[in-house]
Amino acid sequence: MFLRAYSGRVYTANAAMVEENLERAWLALVGALVAAGTLRSPQILAAFRAVPRSRFVPPEHAAAAATVDAPLSIGQGQTVSQPTTVATMLELVQPRPGEKALDVGTGSGWQAALLAHGVRPGGTVITVERIPELSRRAGARLRSFRNVTLLVGDATAGVPVHAPYDVIISAASSPEVPPSWIEQLAVHGRLLHPIAGMGLRVLRKDSVGRISTDDYPGFVFVPLVSDGQPVTLGP
Ligand code: SAH
Repeated sequence: MFLRAYSGRVYTANAAMVEENLERAWLALVGALVAAGTLRSPQILAAFRAVPRSRFVPPEHAAAAATVDAPLSIGQGQTVSQPTTVATMLELVQPRPGEKALDVGTGSGWQAALLAHGVRPGGTVITVERIPELSRRAGARLRSFRNVTLLVGDATAGVPVHAPYDVIISAASSPEVPPSWIEQLAVHGRLLHPIAGMGLRVLRKDSVGRISTDDYPGFVFVPLVSDGQPVTLGP
């Protein structure tokens, strides 16, 4: 009995130390993104500092998630994106307090958490994942984020029931931007989608609904799988 209680305390102390070291390492990586000029906006920097990537990966990848600027496996053949890539994406779409964001490809839930932080106070995030097991695990990690709704299904047709969105951001690539997403983008909205074989495409809708497009070559993403699976509330 004594031994069990004692080893329990040791374990708790070690776990707290590990968590502290991971946080310190993560803040150093965030500092490197600032020094490189990748992270520039105060609200996006605040989100990065508050939401370490290590909390969104399986425990065996936590150290790498906090220290290595590279994509990492999250199981089911999928990856959590590289910090530099996610920082670039969020700087391009500039989530603001009070806005509504559609996040396509929940994956680990890390980008949804950063968005949820970025749209506080008052904003909401709808995140869609086609693999139910990934959504389930992301849901557990996102429990403290009250402004995130997790949905499961194919997001290629968007989620019209919650539209329009100020921000639409996809972590999966296809040859063209799905037309429904452009329809579901609010005026003054920003849409970011990786185009297969090119890189990031950003669409902006002006006050009268006109669209402008900018391309940022050189990023690689997993493909958007369009299987027509209906979008429903997460597991
Ligand atoms: N934003 C994620 C990155 C995950 S990678 C993160 O922070 O971890 C992209 C994800 O998109 C994968 O989990 C993949 O299963 C999902 N995906 C691919 N096609 C999809 C579709 N049509 N609808 C919803 N999710 C999709």
